Amino acid sequence: MAATTISPAIRKQMSSVAVAMKVAVIGSGISGAVCASTLARNGVSVTIFDSGRGPGGRMSQRREIGEDGKELMFDHGAPFFCVSNSDAMALVHEWESRGFVSEWKQVFGSFDCASNKFLGIQQEGDAKKYVGVPGMNSISKALCNESGVKSMFGTGIAKMEWLEEEIPWLLTDSKGENLGRFDGVVASDKNIVSPRFTQVTGLPPPLDLSLVPELATKLQNIPVLPCFSLMLAFKEPLSSIPVKGLSFKNSEILSWAHCESTKPGRSTDSERWILHSTPDYANSVIAKTGLQKLSSETLNKISEEMFKEFQCSGLVSSLPFFMKAHRW
Ligand SMILES: Cc1cc2nc3c(=O)[nH]c(=O)nc-3n(C[C@H](O)[C@H](O)[C@H](O)COP(=O)(O)OP(=O)(O)OC[C@H]3O[C@@H](n4cnc5c(N)ncnc54)[C@H](O)[C@@H]3O)c2cc1C
Repeated sequence: MAATTISPAIRKQMSSVAVAMKVAVIGSGISGAVCASTLARNGVSVTIFDSGRGPGGRMSQRREIGEDGKELMFDHGAPFFCVSNSDAMALVHEWESRGFVSEWKQVFGSFDCASNKFLGIQQEGDAKKYVGVPGMNSISKALCNESGVKSMFGTGIAKMEWLEEEIPWLLTDSKGENLGRFDGVVASDKNIVSPRFTQVTGLPPPLDLSLVPELATKLQNIPVLPCFSLMLAFKEPLSSIPVKGLSFKNSEILSWAHCESTKPGRSTDSERWILHSTPDYANSVIAKTGLQKLSSETLNKISEEMFKEFQCSGLVSSLPFFMKAHRW
């Protein structure tokens, strides 16, 4: 996870030009949202564009409805984050004091699918795990609502053009609509230069990399690891699991599982778990299906395969009343 910090020298420089400076931030995930908030606090006028319906990106929260009509909330992307840098820690303390971040104090471990045994249970002193409250997207939500930040959701940037003019950047959305001119653009997703953008939308990537050849190699080297998340809700607690988050060893299908309803600020009406697939399993599915939207038949098959692997661990004795897969 990236966090943005600005040195006092740059901050001074920015505040002297802030009146004129207009910056577009593409993406309202944690990187884009922190960047937008930091720029706005330094007097820059910021507009965030995100193709998604709301803020959060891969730190988002999914709302589902169970058969009984009750709401089920899942952090189906990143389940938590840790902090190793003092500047980022200061930011996280500020978010804690504003009430949209808390430490997730639970016991975690790792499970070996070859021997069907726990290999280790987290010891005292391991890195603290933090979550957004009431959902992982609460952080981006709060930052996108800060003064000086304007947010436009459901707006995918399809073209970023550099014009040799005083305000050089022109942004266009996927319907060909002009979104305005900006002094600077911050893109938080590799997508804007990636062939993956073309595979999903059928359009050329928004930024022509021949304009910035020195960036091309660096960006190509950033890995994209696909993953499926499986959202599960049970009526009763899975009491044979002694931890609330576990990584899997020796599984071709599962890499991680956690109990969503044990995070601070979540409903405990049902016991909700989320499973993550291994990148290899996700790649094997994508090799067959491509990157287009998956049919409900394919998603159901993936749900069954992932849940079966969870059952094979011997850790699950009951069946979920809700089960749905999501591809990242
Ligand atoms: C299943 C899963 C588990 C994870 N587990 C962890 C974990 O345990 N701990 C951890 O620290 N991290 C974890 N991560 C990684 C973490 O979620 C990401 O590193 C982090 O959220 C990335 O944030 P970001 O802002 O850089 O990108 P993103 O969150 O991907 O945000 C990019 C945003 O840009 C938008 N966008 C892209 N292209 C365009 C465009 N052309 N126009 C407009 N908008 C656009 C997207 O809609 C998206 O909202 C996990 C990720 C996944 C998927």
